[in-house]
Amino acid sequence: MSRFLAPQFQKLEAYTPGEQPQDMQYIKLNTNESPYPPAPSVVAAMTAGEVELLRLYSDPTAKNLKEKLAGLYGVTPENVFVSNGSDEVLNFAFMAFGSKGVVFPEISYGFYAVYADLYALEAEKIPLKPDFSIAYRDYCGKNKMVVIANPNAPTGMRIPVSEIEEILKTNPDSLVLIDEAYVDFGGESCLPLIGKYDNLLVTRTFSKSRCLAGGRLGYAFASSAIIADLEKIKYSTNPYNINRMTLLLGEKTVEAEEYYQEKCAEIIQTRAWTARQLEELGFTVLPSQTNFLFAKTDKMDGGELYNALKQQGILVRHFSDPKIAQYNRITIGTPEQMARFVEIVHQILAAM
Ligand SMILES: *Cc1c(COP(=O)(O)O)cnc(C)c1O
Repeated sequence: MSRFLAPQFQKLEAYTPGEQPQDMQYIKLNTNESPYPPAPSVVAAMTAGEVELLRLYSDPTAKNLKEKLAGLYGVTPENVFVSNGSDEVLNFAFMAFGSKGVVFPEISYGFYAVYADLYALEAEKIPLKPDFSIAYRDYCGKNKMVVIANPNAPTGMRIPVSEIEEILKTNPDSLVLIDEAYVDFGGESCLPLIGKYDNLLVTRTFSKSRCLAGGRLGYAFASSAIIADLEKIKYSTNPYNINRMTLLLGEKTVEAEEYYQEKCAEIIQTRAWTARQLEELGFTVLPSQTNFLFAKTDKMDGGELYNALKQQGILVRHFSDPKIAQYNRITIGTPEQMARFVEIVHQILAAM
């Protein structure tokens, strides 16, 4: 730390991203990326001509991309915000809407706590139920910003939209942010509610179901007033927040919807297969509506299994929080990758 860092950041604990090792080839099941490439039309869009155009700034209004997203999801462009990964919408939302304090599940996406600290917001972390589900009543009538990932991470479990509606109704003067990073893998979206509740912000990402994690593209739906607030923050920080290439690839991605629906369906199938195999090996596997499984075995500590897998060239995600340290989060890869994963797990347990 230099002696110039402002006092309020000196104790800030930054978010720890999953490993992105550059040293060797792992079967990478640790950061919930897609195992599939973007659609062929997306890959083909990245021409030398487009690279030459990088001398020009990108469109700060992201007009084309917003129109395409609005068309696909049946809203108007005024209800759409686009961002440099959905982490950026989260960042802007905590900055803009969290001044009365913020409440989120104790076990959830780790970045929520980091943003709360970054903006010195009073944060209330609510424990999950013993079965890892979210007790929605704990979030009703809070009169603070509510943040819920649906489906939740790293548990993979979803909360019904009817319960989110109760949270919206009972917090009419606070923003309710529903993070739908994994909704395309079997979750239920609250997008239809944005016309009914002016306190709802729904965030999404191209990183998981749209095979574009490295492109850094996120988006959000809300009332036009909330979107205008987010735009104000964006124009006060980084107006060209999305680069030209990513804007173009995002538009092509929206046009290739069918391809991505197919890939999501494949991942859902592979998820079911993998869960069955793990259960046959004696694992407890939480019911997942995402592109990952959260699983534990009584035969081995979660951290030990993580290490043993890594030695065999397979990376999964382990969290040291004692409440979930027994578990590992396993991203769903291709059927071949998951067959290899199951085989290695079997070997590791057999060698004990
Ligand atoms: C991956 C993830 C994000 C962030 O995604 P980016 O768009 O890559 O920034 C947000 N929320 C949850 C719950 C996630 O798992």
